[in-house]
Amino acid sequence: MKDEYMTFTIKKKKNIALIAHDNEKPKIIKWCMDHKEVLKNHNLYGTGTTARLITDKTGLRVKGYNSGPLGGDQQIGAKIVEGVIDFVVFFSDPLTAQPHDPDVKALMRIAQVYDIPMAVNRATADFMITSLYMDTEYDHEVINFNKNIQERAESM
Ligand code: PGA
Repeated sequence: MKDEYMTFTIKKKKNIALIAHDNEKPKIIKWCMDHKEVLKNHNLYGTGTTARLITDKTGLRVKGYNSGPLGGDQQIGAKIVEGVIDFVVFFSDPLTAQPHDPDVKALMRIAQVYDIPMAVNRATADFMITSLYMDTEYDHEVINFNKNIQERAESM
């Protein structure tokens, strides 16, 4: 196990990605309103339309990436890989087929790989945002990708 994992730290000030499919957008806006006092203390990011709507309706500053179907979910996944985003609230629509379903799956997978807290519904998001860890640093173990590359290269 030694060296298999490295300790990463999610800082006290979280870097939170906010994403909602169209039918879920009213829910994420309401959730952001309900938790505005907490959210305003963190850095907020989001897919294009979600970010714009949250800013317009709540006044919270949210840095927007591309719209989800145009690569926004992939951009957020890349930011997780780079260590820029460390917390995700994604109100995905469980009842409607999405054209960018592979991107949604890819984002969920990369959040698992990097052990990122990720809520896909309101109840989980409520539990996460009221967690004691919102006010502290949080150390967690993430796969040691340098070792992984070295071992793979040596085995080929
Ligand atoms: P949007 O993208 O915020 O631009 O609507 C979200 C998504 O559909 O993944």
